[in-house]
Amino acid sequence: MNEMFCFQCEQTAKGTGCTIGGVCGKKPEVAGKQDELTCALIGLARAAEGKNHNKSTDELVMQGLFMTVTNVNFDPSRVDELKKMAESVKIKLGGAKDFDPTTLFHGNQDIVSLRSTLLFGLRGMAAYAWDAHVLGKDNPEVTEGLYKGLRAVGQEHSVDEWLSLIMELGQINLKCMAMLDEANTSTYGHPVPTKVSMKVERGPFIVITGHDLLDLKELLEQTKGKGINIYTHGEMLPAHGYPELKKYPQLKGNYGTAWQNQQKEFNDLPAPILYTTNCLMPPKSTYSDNIFTTSVVGYPGLKHISEKEGKKDFSPIIKKAIELGGWKEDKQFTGINGGTEMTTGFARNTVLGVADTVITAVKSGAIKHFFLVGGCDGAKPGRNYYTDFVKNTPSDTVVLTLACGKYRFNDLNIGEIGGIPRLLDMGQCNDAYSAIQVAVALADAFKCSVNELPLTLVLSWYEQKAVIILLTLLSLGIKNIYLGPTLPAFLSPNVLKVLVDKFNIKPVTTAEADLKAILG
Ligand code: SF4
Ligand code: SF4
Repeated sequence: MNEMFCFQCEQTAKGTGCTIGGVCGKKPEVAGKQDELTCALIGLARAAEGKNHNKSTDELVMQGLFMTVTNVNFDPSRVDELKKMAESVKIKLGGAKDFDPTTLFHGNQDIVSLRSTLLFGLRGMAAYAWDAHVLGKDNPEVTEGLYKGLRAVGQEHSVDEWLSLIMELGQINLKCMAMLDEANTSTYGHPVPTKVSMKVERGPFIVITGHDLLDLKELLEQTKGKGINIYTHGEMLPAHGYPELKKYPQLKGNYGTAWQNQQKEFNDLPAPILYTTNCLMPPKSTYSDNIFTTSVVGYPGLKHISEKEGKKDFSPIIKKAIELGGWKEDKQFTGINGGTEMTTGFARNTVLGVADTVITAVKSGAIKHFFLVGGCDGAKPGRNYYTDFVKNTPSDTVVLTLACGKYRFNDLNIGEIGGIPRLLDMGQCNDAYSAIQVAVALADAFKCSVNELPLTLVLSWYEQKAVIILLTLLSLGIKNIYLGPTLPAFLSPNVLKVLVDKFNIKPVTTAEADLKAILG
């Protein structure tokens, strides 16, 4: 196979679609197998309609969708394995026709756009549902939403029906995000404000990246008393705020920045790296031997740690950390703006805990505006917009942030307003529910709608987890979102026009012009 079509992420080739190989490194063979897996899952969902399906079938659906998210799994044999499992479960459920992979992304431009929006939203939601599931939390409405959504992807609909399915998925994802928030906070406690060092201490260490806090917890347990330090990377940074994780003394700090810098940051790193979820880039030979993947993550030739009887054995990583030995001296690293420390842990419980102070500050005019500058980081140029934006926000405004796009500015000290930091890191993209809850609470306090608050959402997207969060925000009726660095290629001009007309989504321009337009 030497051709493919994929346009699901922001870095898609020429802003239209990857056709001869993925910009992300995905090969045509893998793209083809991912399409086949998707179509097999549609068949499975069809066969499961009206029938009882067990936990392992639900897990298969979640993992199958998650595995096709950008930068998750590049291993054709793993994708194929899941497809075969989906086909065999489908037969056990009585069988049904699979969807035709050749029509998944082909046909009428608007229908392809709407079908893709629904499918990419499902992929994103499955990733969040999986992270909650591993902590023992499931919501039948969310699980059913995945099956129903898959069936809908495989059916014909009018444009209005597609749009209503997409909005319905956004609403279901709100429940999924609430479930994930509950899973994390009931397991690890509510995050508390925590300063995170960017210094790596001498001696053996392990870097852990991705979103899965359970993998981090298990790694911390298994490295207890072994003289090995643990550093978060990328989206794992907010883990430092959770009481049940920060209590481990070997959880020392954060190494590196966002996912797109990994090939530079992991080159010659004297430590192993554990990838728990997205975002994996094809590793260079200089460090590929030090990489371990787990869960749905995979890449041909990399070592994978599977779960056995509900446990993961991280001893090969620990052995590797000792073998590599770390650096001989402490090393101080900086963020992209030269800062040496970041603060995280301003999730909903902390922010709402100071709600009275915030409300008083708004009423007195000390806080004039809130920005939520959140979303993904990425490799394409133009993302310095987000650094410029935050740097230029006036001193009487507060910036909430979440997800890995914050590495563009989270080492900046932009000061405080009456003891409240002006930059509040609410967590991973997985913690979007926290931001929604804060917005809703502010709207309640000021007896207005979220759209009437002095709040502007300035979002950056990269892949399908960001797509489903955007759909959730739209399904809540949130308007005037600034979206960048570029608009999704999978939105056809007509579909984009519907979203712009209905929700007034605006593409970002320059930080200066957008701030002027927002603040006047
Ligand atoms: S995930 Fe993105 S970069 Fe990778 S093949 Fe698809 S569109 Fe291209
Ligand atoms: S914020 Fe987006 S790009 Fe970043 S790790 Fe999360 S899903 Fe990936």
